[in-house]
Amino acid sequence: MYQAPVQAALPSPAHFAAVSALIKSVFHVPAVAVALHGAPANADGGVYRSFLEIPLIKDHETIGTLRILDTSERAFNERDCQLLEGFAKLVVDQVELWSEASRDGLTGAMTRRAFSESLRKSFASRQRTRSKASLILFDLDHFKRVNDTWGHAAGDAVLKAVSRTVLREMRVEDSFGRVGGEEFAVLVSNAGATTAGDVAERMRRAIESTVVEGYAHIKVTASFGVAEASDAVLDVEDWSDRADAQLYAAKEDGRNRVAIAPMAKPLTPVN
Ligand code: GH3
Ligand code: MG
Ligand code: MG
Repeated sequence: MYQAPVQAALPSPAHFAAVSALIKSVFHVPAVAVALHGAPANADGGVYRSFLEIPLIKDHETIGTLRILDTSERAFNERDCQLLEGFAKLVVDQVELWSEASRDGLTGAMTRRAFSESLRKSFASRQRTRSKASLILFDLDHFKRVNDTWGHAAGDAVLKAVSRTVLREMRVEDSFGRVGGEEFAVLVSNAGATTAGDVAERMRRAIESTVVEGYAHIKVTASFGVAEASDAVLDVEDWSDRADAQLYAAKEDGRNRVAIAPMAKPLTPVN
């Protein structure tokens, strides 16, 4: 079965606007739906009497469906099928391009931009569904020394090894991003500060015992800051700032440790 890479963001329906418009005009239909497994389909409202649907196939795996819909009764023929199959290839190419653009080349983590988008979506849906979410930020300790002592290639190997370690410790529904040179972020879904703190502690230990391929003599550790998106958190920036403040505290406190933001009470009006 096709599994979306855990670290890659899936494109949202808005990213298919151009190809959808093209398909609409070619088939003279009012609606086109692209549904990717693991991502929300575009919710085009309306009553449709007929539709033609074909699978989106990448490397022999079905990754979703492409559908054209019409408000009138309409019979689609073999030629329509073939034409839509051609468009399906275009959509699959777009998915691939998007995945490439949203992934960091060295580590396979999400780029800062793609990760920020995930964070924004998570914050918005948390407010809507009352589900929990936590953000973990971590930064490698004394990484400049690694570069200075063993060279830039060794530094790159460490970044790769650490990313692989962290991905192994993650659940599929969580996101992992490279937000700076040697700074990373993990978005933990459905988890409060305590659970996310446990996740961070597990990652900290895993990093500490990571053996870097080709550079087994290099010891690597990281410092972690954790913050839950509680009701007191104003927006995504505030959420990141809180995790960042804890990361700073972990560094100040001696590095190779996890610091968790205390749960602040939401502001209540004074009578
Ligand atoms: P601290 O424990 O306080 O975080 O110390 P540090 O040395 O890790 O922090 P600092 O920010 O001074 O150094 C970060 C270093 O990370 C400096 C920079 O050269 C290195 N770096 C950033 N991006 C990359 C990269 O892509 N590859 C390599 N090899 N090094 C990188
Ligand atoms: Mg840094
Ligand atoms: Mg550092």
